[in-house]
Order: sequence, then structure tokens, then C-alpha cells
Amino acid sequence: MAPDPRFLEAARAYRDELVAAGLLIPTGVPGVMGRGGEFEDTLDRVDALVTRFGASDGATVMRFPPILNKLTFEKSEYLKSFPQLAGTVHSFNGDDAAHRALLHGVEAGTDWARDLPSTDVVLTPAACYPVYPAVAGVLPANGRIVDVLSFCFRHEPSDDPARLQAFRQREHVRIASPEQVASWRNTWFERADQFTAALQLDARVEVANDPFFGRGGKLLVVNQRDQQLKFEVVAPIASSEWPTAIISLNYHQDHFGHLFGITTDDGATAHTSCIGFGLERITLALYRKHGFARERWPDGTRKVLGL
Ligand code: ZN
Repeated sequence: MAPDPRFLEAARAYRDELVAAGLLIPTGVPGVMGRGGEFEDTLDRVDALVTRFGASDGATVMRFPPILNKLTFEKSEYLKSFPQLAGTVHSFNGDDAAHRALLHGVEAGTDWARDLPSTDVVLTPAACYPVYPAVAGVLPANGRIVDVLSFCFRHEPSDDPARLQAFRQREHVRIASPEQVASWRNTWFERADQFTAALQLDARVEVANDPFFGRGGKLLVVNQRDQQLKFEVVAPIASSEWPTAIISLNYHQDHFGHLFGITTDDGATAHTSCIGFGLERITLALYRKHGFARERWPDGTRKVLGL
């Protein structure tokens, strides 16, 4: 669904304010932004707050680079649902003649990258994707909880400073029986509420859907919403009228358990769920709500961020 023109106007104006304040640094490509030192410092503090909220779970920490095994990507069926968002990695492996042709293409301004073959990796579309093959097999009795953080790529160029093509997702991923997953989700629903309250953001929870591609995607959207498989915590960034998702809670049922061969200790296909904190978006929501002068943020917000 295309955003309302009034939303885009507000988003561009807010992006320009963020750039003028030195919080974001434009690169010439819509949705690709550098981050200034203070923005990054605030983001690190938000990340540390997520750590504190999940600390009692004793999650297994895993960190992966922002590139994903292409075989994992194929197996995940991402291309079935979101071909429009995917980013693939290609590289040169030709001879001298091919090299000359490549340089000629650059000079002539043609699509020189078109002839580069793909590599064994793609850009990571969501922080939890590398986790599923890493936990394949039989789970311990209590299942697993994994803590991940990664830059993610989505090809959706936009002037909205909250819709970046590359951004960080901090996730907790639950891999367990349906009952264990349900109880974990309830815990995080409460924690997400406490998290936004601690930051004093005007947030609310909504039933949501992913941007599934094409005609078949319409059915998937209806199914996802009917079964309440995805919730988002939204807060104002570019606009109060059209708030932006800053946290998402996703229930994949047995989708990944089935695709990657993950089973519970009684032999059933594992269910999975993840909660993703959009670190740039939460940081942006803080600047939107409390202003660009961090020293004047409310005492409570400053305290939980260690400012
Ligand atoms: Zn996830």
C-alpha cells in the first residue's frame, strides 16, 4: 500500500531536520543513511535496554554477519513471499577480456553489474534467518531462546527516515513447543509494553501483516491478520497520524521448524516466534517524542538509558 502523500511530505521534512541536526548522514541513495555519533550512542543505549529486559531468560547469544548463506535463503522461502525486498550479492569472476568489458560498461554508464554471477551469499533480510539452520535437529526439553542482532537489508527505497534499506534488528527467537512459544509470547507482550513505557513513548500495539508479494500475497495477508500471527508496537516518528512499527512480534507456527528440520524432544515439529526491536526506529521515536536536545529528555527516560 503506497503511503499517503501527506505522510511522505511529513517524512521528508523530518528527515531533513534529522540531517540538519547531524543525527543522520545522507548518502545519495533514498533510505541509505549514515548515523552520527550521538545517534549511534543513543541506539547503543536502546540496545542495552533490550538486553536488560531479556536478561532473565538466559538466551543463547549468536551474532552473524549481515550476509546469509544463499542455500538458507532459498530454503526459507523468502523469495515466495518477498521477492521485491530481497538483496543478492554478485561478484566478478571473469578473465581479462571480461574485465575490460566491465570497465567499459562503467565508463559508458550501462548496467555493468548485470553480467556479474551471484555468490554463495545474499543480504540478510531478517536477523533471525541464520538462527534456524543453526538450531536444526532435536531441541532440549525446554526448547531454545536465541538472542541475535544484525544489520538487515530490504530493497524499499524511501524518503521516510524510518524506512531504511539497511537497519539493525535486535531479536529474541523462541524455538520450542506451541505451548512454550505461547507463554514466551505473553511474557514479551508485557515486556514490550513496559519497555515503551520506560522510554515514555506514545506507543500502542496493533495486529499487523507482512508486505507479501503479488496476488497470492493478498490471501497470506488475510490469513496472517485473521490468525493474529503478527503484532506491531507502533509509535510516531514522521507523523503522529501514521505511526511507525518499532517492535514486531511474529509467530511463524511450524514454518521454519518444518523447513529446517527442527523438532521438540518428543519428536514434533518445533514452532518458532521472534520479537524484533527496530533499533534505528526506536531511536528515531525517542528523538521525535522528546526532541533533539538529549539533555532535556525526561528524567525517567534519561535514567533507563543511563544518560
Ligand atoms: Zn525474526
